[in-house]
Amino acid sequence: MNKEEAKKRLYELYSIIEEHNYNYYVLDAPTVEDDEYDRLMREVKSIEAQFPELVTEDSPTRHVGGAAVSTFEKVTHTVQMGSLQDVFSEEELYRFDSTVRSEFEPAYSVEPKIDGLSVSLEYRDGVLVRGSTRGDGFIGEDITENLRTIKTIPRKLAEKLPLLEVRGEVYMPRDSFAKLVAEQEENGEQPAKNPRNAAAGSLRQKDSSVTAKRSLGIFIFNVQQVEGKSFTRHSETLDWLAELGFPTVGHKVCQNIDEAVARIREIGEEKHGYPYDTDGAVIKVDDLAQRESLGSTAKVPKWAVAFKYPPEEKETVLREIEVNVGRTGALTPVAIFDTVQLAGTAVSRASLHNQDIMDRLGIAVGDTIAVRKAGEIIPEVVRVTKHGGGVLYRLPDICPVCGHPAEKCGDEAAVRCTNPGCPAQLLRRLEHFASRDAMNIEGLGEAVVKQLADSGLVKSPADLYELNEQDVLSLAGFKAKSAGNLLKAIENSRQNQPDRLLYALGIRGIGRRSAELLLRKFGSIDGVMNASRDDILSIDSFGEVLADSVTAAFADGQMRELMEKFREYGLKFDYDKAASGDKFAGLTFVLTGTLPTLKREQAKEMIENMGGKCAGSVSKKTNYVVAGEAAGSKLTKAQELGVAILTEQQLLEMINGE
Ligand code: NAD
Repeated sequence: MNKEEAKKRLYELYSIIEEHNYNYYVLDAPTVEDDEYDRLMREVKSIEAQFPELVTEDSPTRHVGGAAVSTFEKVTHTVQMGSLQDVFSEEELYRFDSTVRSEFEPAYSVEPKIDGLSVSLEYRDGVLVRGSTRGDGFIGEDITENLRTIKTIPRKLAEKLPLLEVRGEVYMPRDSFAKLVAEQEENGEQPAKNPRNAAAGSLRQKDSSVTAKRSLGIFIFNVQQVEGKSFTRHSETLDWLAELGFPTVGHKVCQNIDEAVARIREIGEEKHGYPYDTDGAVIKVDDLAQRESLGSTAKVPKWAVAFKYPPEEKETVLREIEVNVGRTGALTPVAIFDTVQLAGTAVSRASLHNQDIMDRLGIAVGDTIAVRKAGEIIPEVVRVTKHGGGVLYRLPDICPVCGHPAEKCGDEAAVRCTNPGCPAQLLRRLEHFASRDAMNIEGLGEAVVKQLADSGLVKSPADLYELNEQDVLSLAGFKAKSAGNLLKAIENSRQNQPDRLLYALGIRGIGRRSAELLLRKFGSIDGVMNASRDDILSIDSFGEVLADSVTAAFADGQMRELMEKFREYGLKFDYDKAASGDKFAGLTFVLTGTLPTLKREQAKEMIENMGGKCAGSVSKKTNYVVAGEAAGSKLTKAQELGVAILTEQQLLEMINGE
């Protein structure tokens, strides 16, 4: 490559990488795989090494790829939050060691590299005062409220040092990621690509109650600055942080590079079993004075490197695409392929999620495909490596189970079966109907529901109310007593308030709270059934999607028949405000600060609807202070008087809970 060609390619790569950085760090939605990104970066590095005079200030090798987004307050980092130099082979690890050893005899700390989002936490006098993202390494975003929802982050420390700033990686555990993807699939949303993007997206929400639902975790891996204490080794700081109650990253001190390489190999074996994702191992000089002397570039420290393990991908042949139907009728395509071993297990199926994703892959039965495990837990088809000559796959436009039309609604990703009586949906509908937050029918778990559906005794949730003792005794595992208990639980559920019934119907987007709001507004199930789209839109927290979902559900003939059966069986249709509204009787609340989602008036109305009182000032008689952002003197007074303080989330849990 001559200089002219190199220049052209280099600047082209700068702009391609800049776009990938924006998608990854700002939108939390990368459009290429990490190894593809790493390949582009390596190409940049090799051209830059050959033609150093071409390197400009905006080279991605010179700065961290993120940026602070204007929706959050900006935070200037006192101590730079750099990135890490990547290495991809053991040979490069030895090269790193020999550079360090030209000056020192180092010991190394070897740690798993947690694949999440880098954050800083600042404590003043032992109290957590601020949390922020890395951003471009110099300016990050203030996400204190969202970080406070992570339960393992200590709010107060036993040692009240004037200043302590630590750095850590926020991650989404693999099982939470699997749950989130299943929910997103069912809701017709594009599923999160991997736990890292899911964690980053969850943490950079405007509404911290959304973050709170995502069960994020954190590992602290560095002390950025500390006043009132001094250390000589990095590993010593981690041990001290662990004693203070911080979840710290696992670390092993290795006396030389051979030991460190052995540990890195070990992590490579162990990482499949970790309940969180790692994207490598980090090797760091342990002695803090040695680090100081080695220094950093504008982007990375010279005393550490990140070792990236090769991605574990396998090639196989796609034999079939199976279509599953979920509770809300979403048709989910599943790839069935020749079995391969991935992250320690045999894998032969992977969800293809929806038509958009299949279109992007351009997939057909008979293709050779590359598969891997996203988050080492969810098998995923990464790409088609060789077309087998088949026709590109399209989801059927009829439900494979009941033969009713299946359609795509609006700009949702999912195609859904339009038949609410579809037997494939029955099992999941029944489970949801009986669940604790819905009709709360004890004893009607997954296994019993399956028997009821398989035996044909129950074809819709209404049939539950026709079951008799003989029916239940015909199921495996039931004796007179247990059958009696189940029938009693079903019988008792007739007395439930109708918001439970409305929620139990499994109308898309209608959770317990929306069901309650609908009944408060319209007074009865009939009122909700007859409400127009505009009537529903007049409820503050209802947008067009929810309004359409409710009106479409009740416009359906089968749903109306189902409701008539419920009426015949004596289920409650009229909402008794008083019965459900006395939970807060005798309790006084004070609202202060800006709540994340509710307006002050809305919160007040909700409390009063439950029989509670709202007062303007805090006194000994106050039972709860509901505090939002920028809560001032009322919060201080509540703390002085020892009055219980609630977040909006906790208030909503009290309202919606048992
Ligand atoms: P990085 O994420 O590879 O490494 C630096 C980060 O590692 C630090 O910010 C730190 O928070 C984290 N870390 C985790 N555990 C650690 C530990 N024990 N000790 C120290 N640090 C630890 O670097 P980066 O610059 O943020 O991102 C580069 C990588 O991100 C690329 O290699 C690529 O894989 C990926 N990326 C992908 C795309 C894409 O479009 N797919 C775009 C940009 C970046």
